Amino acid sequence: MEKKNHLFKAEIKEMLDLVVNSLYSKKEIFLRELVSNASDAIDRAKYLGLTQKELVADNPTWRIDIVADKDAKTLMISDNGAGMDAEDLEKNLGTIASSGTKAFRAALKEKGGANLPELIGQFGVGFYAAFMVADKVRVVSKKRGGDAAYQWESDGTGAYTVEDGVRDDYGTSVMLHLRDEFAEYLDEWRVRELVKNYSDFIAYPIYFKGLPEKKEEEKKDGEEEKKPEEPKPLNTMVALWKRPKKDVKKEEYDEFYKHLTHDYTPPLETIHFSGEGQVEFKALLFLPEKAGMDIYMPQTKHGLSLYVRNVFIGNDFEMLLPEYLRFTKGVVDSSDLPLNVSREMLQDDAVIRKIKQAVTSKILSTLQEMKEKRAENYLKFWTTFGRVLKEGIHTDWENADRIKKIVLYPSAKTEAGKLISLDEYVKAMPKDQKDIYFLAAERIEEARHSPQIEQALKHGCDVLFFVDPVDEWLVDSFREYEGKKLVDIAKGDVQFGSEKEQKAEKEANEKASADLKPFLDAVKEQLKDNVADVRVSTRLADSPCCLVAGANALSASMERMMRAMNQEVPHEKRTLEINASHPLVAKMKDLSGDELKDAVELLYDQALIAEGSAIPDPARFTKLLTALMLK
Ligand code: ADP
Repeated sequence: MEKKNHLFKAEIKEMLDLVVNSLYSKKEIFLRELVSNASDAIDRAKYLGLTQKELVADNPTWRIDIVADKDAKTLMISDNGAGMDAEDLEKNLGTIASSGTKAFRAALKEKGGANLPELIGQFGVGFYAAFMVADKVRVVSKKRGGDAAYQWESDGTGAYTVEDGVRDDYGTSVMLHLRDEFAEYLDEWRVRELVKNYSDFIAYPIYFKGLPEKKEEEKKDGEEEKKPEEPKPLNTMVALWKRPKKDVKKEEYDEFYKHLTHDYTPPLETIHFSGEGQVEFKALLFLPEKAGMDIYMPQTKHGLSLYVRNVFIGNDFEMLLPEYLRFTKGVVDSSDLPLNVSREMLQDDAVIRKIKQAVTSKILSTLQEMKEKRAENYLKFWTTFGRVLKEGIHTDWENADRIKKIVLYPSAKTEAGKLISLDEYVKAMPKDQKDIYFLAAERIEEARHSPQIEQALKHGCDVLFFVDPVDEWLVDSFREYEGKKLVDIAKGDVQFGSEKEQKAEKEANEKASADLKPFLDAVKEQLKDNVADVRVSTRLADSPCCLVAGANALSASMERMMRAMNQEVPHEKRTLEINASHPLVAKMKDLSGDELKDAVELLYDQALIAEGSAIPDPARFTKLLTALMLK
């Protein structure tokens, strides 16, 4: 083919500048990235070869070679994996999926350059790390299934070329022209150290060769001819999940996690276990500290990598993991599956179902243990992934009770920044309290100041705050916890205290209602287009009024959410509750004429503001308020 010059897309150029000039001290990670890519390419070739035998007709011994040439100052990483043709080179090394690039730039803007290494990993642009140490990179590749070799070359500043290349065997070589200050990466000991630290578990042997080769020592007379030594791989190649847990260091787990996920932040929790009994398998799972950009993208596949007897079958097998645990990363290795399995075959496989059950159970018990023993880590986990985990209450009936046990909420009596579990809530319930109270709101602060929780607090009852829109949707699936119903404190009738207290309260309420009847009637008449009823409240203590919905009606926050989603909201008028013992009510009941009208209007607007709803006519509200203040 003719040599073609290409310009990097503007975004890539920008990103390359950042990568090359980053202050990141660990430039050495470039080697890990390139070795990982080589290993991935072999994984791919091996897997394709299972069904397309012609691709591996050369019967390769899979390997990765690192060749350092001190004279030429080049370091080459080569593999005999899947290889790339001209189109692949352009697609894989000249562009990044534009959606990814956009997200990358957004994250960069938000987080700044300091987190660049993390971002490089997260966005799968590891190859470009080569430009941190090299001023020229040449990739020569021959794709399995193709018959020509191609060469990609760039100095990482703005353009790259693709042309015909020379290579006999299938696979890829990445040749770095190291900048002078990085000559250390040509030393065998340094490369050995890096491979040991970052890539020891890579499943294929990694060999090192230094150039120019040392001359063989002159053979002395009488001495036997020395056989050239068999080269030894730099890595031990033992799959981490096969090793006994007690022999694996935390750093090794962390490195493997980075290899697997491209996430540079170590995982919050590592779960290494084996399944025994009906199905035998080994699993090495991780709970990340940070959520990937795609955790809420329905089209992204989230799942575990699957190995069958040490052979990589593929990643993102979502049937190994329920969707609500999709933040989990890791690998499962089972010997109870056939080697040539495919996604389609696994869909309905009994072995897979058993593994999924065991994996689910293990993750949930680990989360429970974290909550009890590593509360700080659990809080971190919950803040990032709680919302995803909660989906399970709705979708996994079998485990719903276990999930309910580890759900956390903010509450009226819990200090800011802290959360409580339902167990803690139930334990602190006064003995007369029968139900679990919650209040839905958009923000915690708003909930804290909400009039609806006043009496509950006075009676020593805590109120959970549902500030995540999912919480309210979940109430139906939730139904109850340990035999206690979940009750919306802003709806229907609520009563607090002992039966005796409730009876006394009811009597007082009836008496107040009778005393205030003319006033209540006047308010009701004036607001008849807006509210269904006006009555004396049992839930208020310090505020003069609040709005409450019927027991089965939509709450105010649910209504707002549906409106925001452009859904039609059935309009059901709510009830205005008045605090009979509030001095304002005592004053208002003696007003008449326009004075009463204005005051009632203000009272109603106040109730709307208190629950976070918009008032119908803000200009009129301020006018009335100003007039009142002037008085
Ligand atoms: P990632 O590996 O995270 O996808 P990279 O920037 O490291 O991102 O690589 C981009 C793509 O280039 C890879 O997804 C792969 O398709 C291709 N690639 C890189 N190195 C090799 C290699 N040694 N052999 C075959 N393909 C490769």
